[in-house]
Amino acid sequence: MTDNAESPAVRRLDDWDLERLESLATEYETPLYVMDCDRVKANYTRFSNAFPDAHVMYAAKAHTGKAVLEAVLEAGGTIECAAWGELQRSIEAGADPNELQYTAVNPPAHDLDYATELGAENPELTITIGALDTLERLNERGYDGRIAIRINPGIGTGHHEKVATGADAKFGIPYERVPEVADRVREDFELVGIHAHAGSGVLTDDLEDHCRAIERVGDMARRVGDDELEFVDIGGGYGVPYREDEAPLDLAKTSDMVRDAVGDLEAQLKLEPGRYIVADAGLILTEVNTIKEAPDTTVVGVDASLSTLIRPAMFGSYHPMLNVSAPDREPLEVTVGGPVCTSADVFAHDRPIARPERNDILAIGNAGSYGYELANQFHSQPKPAEVVLEDGEARIGRRRETLEDVTRLEQ
Ligand SMILES: *Cc1c(COP(=O)(O)O)cnc(C)c1O
Repeated sequence: MTDNAESPAVRRLDDWDLERLESLATEYETPLYVMDCDRVKANYTRFSNAFPDAHVMYAAKAHTGKAVLEAVLEAGGTIECAAWGELQRSIEAGADPNELQYTAVNPPAHDLDYATELGAENPELTITIGALDTLERLNERGYDGRIAIRINPGIGTGHHEKVATGADAKFGIPYERVPEVADRVREDFELVGIHAHAGSGVLTDDLEDHCRAIERVGDMARRVGDDELEFVDIGGGYGVPYREDEAPLDLAKTSDMVRDAVGDLEAQLKLEPGRYIVADAGLILTEVNTIKEAPDTTVVGVDASLSTLIRPAMFGSYHPMLNVSAPDREPLEVTVGGPVCTSADVFAHDRPIARPERNDILAIGNAGSYGYELANQFHSQPKPAEVVLEDGEARIGRRRETLEDVTRLEQ
């Protein structure tokens, strides 16, 4: 499982086999998601190797495709789920329910029903609660199993305010109330862990902030008795370089600083990265259909849109782009946008790209995390297909939707 040769810390767009990408676009049409499960496994292994005595789970919500979940399991990982659908899909991908961890955030009733039934058959299932209400609702359902408490460390880190969850009251038990909630858990359940997930997109320069939150997690674990806990889970949030000039996260430094911050613990350290495991394993291929000279820029129209990849519109996120068909052409500063009627449907502003022409295939990088997962049918657009690469072979992971799929639920 663990190769001696460590995989590279980052895979940039020009590290992909561009000829192969072009032939995938021809064969499967565009817009097309490509997901390389060999890279998923390499990312998991590299991350896990950096934290030798910790356990690394994969946060499923970053990409819940079956092939990805199977790849994580094959690499020796377990899965953290935040909804019943993620639990169900993890089990369908072959996960042992006894090794799943379910993080309940304002959980709808069917999520708790599902988790309770799963826990009755699989006593090692762990449920993470972030509100006393969730605990009481589990108690009403007869659940008396393993509980981890999600704490709100009161400090958030991240690349965007919508994902800096640590200081957001929605997530976790308010810090000072944790000991009394721990007492309540111990009355009717088994308290197995302390958990926090304090943001997203943490790169090497953000580590100090990130570790201030983690310090508080370690302190609280000792306060409620780390010798009686099985694990202290510091969540995910580890970032990838979206910009070409950004350096990848220094995993060795991350591991040292995280260990230092969390301090001496009797319990095992757990981490649950999502983005880090899948981001650079995925990209989108999109075809150029329009070139328009405007007074201030050249507009390049493509067939992918914010319904394919919503991160630029939702978070203002930067995604690297490359002309797969003609990478060596002279770069031209262009604005790349899709077919959706809002000015938010733009992937790049004034970005130098090897001069695109109609019918060229462009790649949008780092689309493996929160990409297909957030794809939607806005503008009655069928969702794209996803090709899975594994052991050098390409296969359809998810077929392209049809117009019938778009109207399927109408009565
Ligand atoms: C989203 C989430 C993660 C993963 O976050 P990344 O930024 O993708 O690493 C981990 N744990 C919980 C509870 C989450 O909600």
